[in-house]
Amino acid sequence: MAHRLIRVWHLLDSEEVGKQLLIIGELSGECAKCRAVGLDYKQVKECPKCRTIFHYMASRRSAGGVVKRLTKLRPDLVPIELEDFRSGEAFDKSQGLFG
Ligand SMILES: [Zn+2]
Repeated sequence: MAHRLIRVWHLLDSEEVGKQLLIIGELSGECAKCRAVGLDYKQVKECPKCRTIFHYMASRRSAGGVVKRLTKLRPDLVPIELEDFRSGEAFDKSQGLFG
């Protein structure tokens, strides 16, 4: 078997993603919904503060090796590209202001 990371693009509701997203930093995770920090991204299933059940994860560093390691560590979470989420967020906001 040759396991490689192959990106698949999905049309998702960025608001819904933001409500179930675990952002993974160098040492710990952050809840995208309530901004709670210091979460143990290796095993946290739900946010201890707002009780969000995580379904997606996004790494602050998206080098291939990091993402591959995370997909093995957390096969229960769907990996997304943080920049896709952020640019969508910015786009939604600009639409709200100027649309
Ligand atoms: Zn939270």
